[in-house]
Amino acid sequence: MSGDQYTRQRARMVESQIIARGVHDPRVLHALREIPRHRFVPAELQPHAYEDRPLNIGCGQTISQPYIVALMTQLLELRVTDRVLEVGTGSAYQAAVLAVLAAEVITIERQETLAERASERLVELGYANVTVVTGDGSLGYPSGAPFDAIIVTAAAPRVPPSLKAQLAPGGRLVCPTGARGFQSLTRLVRKGDDFEEHHDIRCVFVPLLGKEGWEE
Ligand code: SAM
Repeated sequence: MSGDQYTRQRARMVESQIIARGVHDPRVLHALREIPRHRFVPAELQPHAYEDRPLNIGCGQTISQPYIVALMTQLLELRVTDRVLEVGTGSAYQAAVLAVLAAEVITIERQETLAERASERLVELGYANVTVVTGDGSLGYPSGAPFDAIIVTAAAPRVPPSLKAQLAPGGRLVCPTGARGFQSLTRLVRKGDDFEEHHDIRCVFVPLLGKEGWEE
């Protein structure tokens, strides 16, 4: 498939999957129209990269459905000066979306193979403001804290306390929480030492495995 064909598929994806479901932030829509999602999936799945579903990326993991990426990103309300932490690098597609919308992104992945591939891919595609770290992201990244926004792209039984502690005043955090089989998107906003909590749509994510996630 040619570059132009992928560009058209992306435009259709944004219209029919993202705008049609109510995501309206123009900066998020712009990022999704620009970022070559097909470059973040294995070669044999590239023709399916703009379909309305998650796809396998190897190591038993997935790249999330485009709509979920768009919705979670919109819920972060990113500003161009923000520093962002992502937990669950996977393919690095979400990290690339964050990189377009914020100043700096640190993304943590527990599987070394995925972290290495993600890092290479981000360099190749020119996303210079992202750092990939290997480790247990349920504990966050204390040496980089505080963060203006934190996004967890794996499901936790509850929002990990370490991540709440690493959120800057006024910071936003989005994390799928609930049972292992299905969750809802939890959004926290830090107000001093308190957190405003809202729940968005139901969703299904792979588990966050680690000290403040699910047991491995
Ligand atoms: N954001 C990714 C993307 O754009 O492709 C999709 C993430 S995938 C749904 C969830 C990822 O979280 C997997 O790659 C998994 O290995 C990772 N993960 C699970 N537990 C983790 C932990 N404690 N710390 C860091 N990463 C973790």
